[in-house]
Amino acid sequence: MALTSYQDLKAAVWDRGTCSGCGACAAVCPADAIRIDEGAETPANIGYCKAETDSVPCGACNAVCPRAVPAPAPGIGACIEKVSAKAAFEVAGRQSGGAVTAILEHALDAGLVDAVVTVSEDRWTHKPVSTLVTSGESLVTTAGSRYSWWVPLLSALKVAVIERKYRRIAIIGLPCVVQAIARMRASENDLLVPYANAVRLVVGLFCTESFDYDRLVEGKLRGEHGIEPWQIRRLDVKGKLEVMLADGNALVLPLKELEDCIRPGCATCTDLTAPTADISAGAVGAASGCTTLLVRTPVGKGFVDAAVGAGRLEICGGVDEAAVERLAARKAARG
Ligand SMILES: Cc1cc2nc3c(=O)[nH]c(=O)nc-3n(C[C@H](O)[C@H](O)[C@H](O)COP(=O)(O)OP(=O)(O)OC[C@H]3O[C@@H](n4cnc5c(N)ncnc54)[C@H](O)[C@@H]3O)c2cc1C
Ligand code: SF4
Ligand code: SF4
Repeated sequence: MALTSYQDLKAAVWDRGTCSGCGACAAVCPADAIRIDEGAETPANIGYCKAETDSVPCGACNAVCPRAVPAPAPGIGACIEKVSAKAAFEVAGRQSGGAVTAILEHALDAGLVDAVVTVSEDRWTHKPVSTLVTSGESLVTTAGSRYSWWVPLLSALKVAVIERKYRRIAIIGLPCVVQAIARMRASENDLLVPYANAVRLVVGLFCTESFDYDRLVEGKLRGEHGIEPWQIRRLDVKGKLEVMLADGNALVLPLKELEDCIRPGCATCTDLTAPTADISAGAVGAASGCTTLLVRTPVGKGFVDAAVGAGRLEICGGVDEAAVERLAARKAARG
């Protein structure tokens, strides 16, 4: 194993401002020596490193980081099925058709997975939190997209694998998180094997950008528009940011006005659809009231078919592939 340390990652990623904030490096550090503090734009080392301090071969943080390697090839990637789908039951907070919730609710309730690693939020402050969900019922309450996301999502993976010893885990993540999982699965680093073996299903959410919580919710919405976090019922991004309020009013902000709220690591991100996921899910290209599902692997297809067979997921038709390709090409052009 090459003797790389966090210093290599710091030079290649942290110091260049390209960190996506996926949290993979912090999750897999065997010494718990990498932290991502709330509001920080990059991880930091706490002053100890197995490789740097004790000359012990490690390199786990470098081996997992999606930004320490070249960006994936442009395009939406290979699929074995492209469908519009929706939950066959009420999912109150769903972002699109609730298909992601339906697939994973069924997977948990049927015992196909033990836990789902995802991002939920404090309903009062809308602050995101990385979460481990172990029941279908709880998953239904976490439906919806967290756009002001920057929590080290994969810290929940560490809890799942190392503390709770789960061995059948599903992960929902944005493309940067999915890329980190792909590196984990492909790596020969012994320290990553327990994580790779425990991941059964990866669901990738399409993503054009995500926002920094403090800059968007505290700075822009509360500071400039006088909207308290608890007045927000729902956020949606469709070429503009729509802020739906509990009193029925809405605020619409052009994305141009939100450029200073976008997380710096997103500026160099070219991946819209997470091609290495088992299933990718997005709003663009879907039939009305549905989610676009790009089913990429036999494992992904197995989970979709199981949810359909149990009457929890409904296939509504095809996908407007040109619309997905267009958005993917627009994002890839950033690189
Ligand atoms: C930051 C962000 C940007 C997006 N940008 C686009 C876009 O540009 N174009 C597009 O077509 N689609 C985009 N999406 C995807 C879209 O908003 C929906 O998530 C997707 O269509 C699935 O909808 P659904 O109703 O099936 O999911 P739901 O049934 O609502 O379930 C969503 C699941 O994802 C989990 N989740 C929410 N936010 C996160 C997060 N940040 N990280 C990990 N898990 C999370 C929830 O806990 C829930 O379990 C984006 C999503 C996010 C979070
Ligand atoms: S992109 Fe992820 S793995 Fe890489 S430095 Fe940032 S948080 Fe760590
Ligand atoms: S644009 Fe989305 S996928 Fe890319 S780094 Fe930002 S949050 Fe991650």
